[in-house]
Amino acid sequence: MMSREKYLDSNLKKLLEENESKENIHIFKVIEKIIPDWIIKKTNFYVKQYKNLQNNWIKLCSQWKTEPKEILIVEYLPDLDNFENYTILRHIIESLTLNGYIIRNIRDITTCDKCNGAMLNEVAFNFLKEQETSIISNDSKWNSICDNCNTCIKN
Ligand SMILES: [Zn+2]
Repeated sequence: MMSREKYLDSNLKKLLEENESKENIHIFKVIEKIIPDWIIKKTNFYVKQYKNLQNNWIKLCSQWKTEPKEILIVEYLPDLDNFENYTILRHIIESLTLNGYIIRNIRDITTCDKCNGAMLNEVAFNFLKEQETSIISNDSKWNSICDNCNTCIKN
């Protein structure tokens, strides 16, 4: 069961202080110490059918003069309008983003069962499909295997 409370500033501040070190701890060490369950899955690419997501990521990285590293699929991302009690988590997210990582919510993104590339999960896929401006065609169905892997299986 996911609890948002553990990501609140009040909780993370305490954990940060407990784990404070004189050395500059690497960001992943901090994550491992204070929010070890936060990152659920990792991958380093979006599947081909979402190449717009891949391209956006590449574009962002070049803006920040870094290289795309990993897509981190996490248990919790605070809503944009509810950031004030999650400034520590936001700081962690910003540091990662500036270093070429992209942070995605497990509610929206999963990985292909076959190639492990990042793709929309079923809920996000169906939600987007229902939008009028959707890039997802009406007759397409969500699959736990990406289109590219699916084609390879059929052939
Ligand atoms: Zn695949």
